[in-house]
Amino acid sequence: MEYVKNILGTIGNTPLVKLNKIVEEIEALVLAKVETFNPGNSAKDRMAVKMIDDAESQGLLKPGYTIIEGTSGNTGMGLALVAIIKGYKLICVISDKQSKEKMDILRAVGAEVIVCPTNVEPDDPRSYYSVSKRLATETPNSWYVNQYDNPSNSLAHYEQTGPEIWEQTEGKITHFVVGVGTGGTISGIGKYLKEKNPAIKIWGIDTYGSVFKKYHETGIFDENEIYPYITEGIGEDILPKNVNFSVIDGFTKVTDKDAAVYTRKIAKEEGIFVGNSAGSAVKGLLQLKKHFKKEDVVVVLFHDHGSRYVGKMFNDDWMRERGFLDEEKLVAIDLIKD
Ligand code: PMP
Repeated sequence: MEYVKNILGTIGNTPLVKLNKIVEEIEALVLAKVETFNPGNSAKDRMAVKMIDDAESQGLLKPGYTIIEGTSGNTGMGLALVAIIKGYKLICVISDKQSKEKMDILRAVGAEVIVCPTNVEPDDPRSYYSVSKRLATETPNSWYVNQYDNPSNSLAHYEQTGPEIWEQTEGKITHFVVGVGTGGTISGIGKYLKEKNPAIKIWGIDTYGSVFKKYHETGIFDENEIYPYITEGIGEDILPKNVNFSVIDGFTKVTDKDAAVYTRKIAKEEGIFVGNSAGSAVKGLLQLKKHFKKEDVVVVLFHDHGSRYVGKMFNDDWMRERGFLDEEKLVAIDLIKD
């Protein structure tokens, strides 16, 4: 018989899928590392396991403890799966701009969800950073995960995702492109790939309203770069310890509208139903096309599943209300005229 001893045994070894129509203007081979094949439907399952395992071995997390985290949903889902298997209680503190689907999914897998306002400063007592930290100090026998600064986050990608990409491309990868939030994914994979071959270029995808690109280029943490944005999962108004700027060659910023439009295009043109940050990553990759030569092998990572965004960019009314549906609306008007 062939089986895994519980659902955690299905994490990792996600496929690389060639992108075709959506990247037809690029001559290089473009491959997507589709992380939705993980059981929690995102790359975050990998680091959830690693952070919990490491906290246990360091004696920070013990039987009967409550795990507390500020999470945009995907980390929460990963933590929830591990918490179920290992018998911990989980509290997720989430900001109100996150999709309702993400909150419902977290509740479905047994997490307690606390929703905080998005448009407040990180050090405001109502922010999800502050609320999660406060809960962690006030709750006895609890462990605060802190994915932003927890080194096990990027280590999971250094130990697993990086080697997978290297082996799947038989060492032929020349560029890696990925959205950056806590920085765990880009820093872990980037470090591993650069150790294997320092010529590999690592590109981060940032969003307008976030500090990463400017900080990387100037070393200045510019508060003027910070304003509310719609894109989920990437960009920050803080500098998480997990962002290792030394393994990143550059950032490109993608607008909320482009991210939403390209998330829809990935589903329609490639049949790959993935989330908002995948749209950012593909649009960012197209913005970078002058850096890619015909013989290059470009890997882009898709973090999470489209089902979490059915009420958002996959919903026409949501797109129309934000003025994101122009091109498709024009096509519809043309069809009516015909
Ligand atoms: N995309 C999505 C959908 C995410 O949830 C996250 C995590 N915030 C990221 C991208 C960025 O990954 P990381 O935190 O490892 O930088």
